[in-house]
Amino acid sequence: MFETVFSAGVVGRAIEKRLLSVNVHNLRDFATDKHRQVDDRPFGGSPGMVLKPEPVFAAVEHIRAATQTPVFLLSPRGRRFDTRMVEAMAGESGMLLICGRYEGVDERVIQHLITDEISIGDYILTGGEPAAMVIVDAVSRYVPGVVGKQESVASESFSQELLEHPQYTRPRDFRGMKVPEVLFSGNHEQIEKWRLKRSLEKTWRTRPDLLAQKSLTREEQQMLADIQDETKGNTHESH
Ligand code: SAM
Repeated sequence: MFETVFSAGVVGRAIEKRLLSVNVHNLRDFATDKHRQVDDRPFGGSPGMVLKPEPVFAAVEHIRAATQTPVFLLSPRGRRFDTRMVEAMAGESGMLLICGRYEGVDERVIQHLITDEISIGDYILTGGEPAAMVIVDAVSRYVPGVVGKQESVASESFSQELLEHPQYTRPRDFRGMKVPEVLFSGNHEQIEKWRLKRSLEKTWRTRPDLLAQKSLTREEQQMLADIQDETKGNTHESH
């Protein structure tokens, strides 16, 4: 699973260039019984299987013997992964991600071994592997040299608690769908204003929760009021 994903694209190239490294460990290598069993039935009687504490502790203790990196368990019960966490993780020299399976992991792992539990959203995956890939991918973008222009990390959605403005490329007119004129004006200030307004509009429409957390400047408040007026009158610019 990991080999395929981490050998391609931006992350694959970063690993090749040794800007970052990803080591995958198999929990079964840390099981001590002859069947190398890593799971068992839950106490108290409920369906499914639970990952046993012994192999998880053994794996983490073995891997951490060399470094003191934080240990995160992927779990739908965790704190929701967001851009602040990405930034904090990028400041670490490394991290250890534990992928759960089945019904999850013995609670003693959570209470006594890990730094934090992290969820990538309010839904249930079959295992923590895709969630770990999401985290590695997102954090890798903050490693210097991984993403072409570092500025593009700073201006992306969520970086200013706003979603990104719309982007256009050639052709200027595609089947009568035209790129907004302002983008050809050469007037940098006007373009920036247009982008900010469209960012505010997109965030207001799809993620009002982000706007509620953000303190808006006077200019932004005015733009938002205009957007709301335009919507009421149904006269807002097409985009
Ligand atoms: N019984 C668990 C519960 O209700 O919280 C769900 C277990 S899930 C089927 C199996 C594993 O997938 C979890 O241990 C976790 O590692 C991973 N997983 C599932 N959903 C996830 C999410 N939203 N974020 C991060 N990891 C997730």
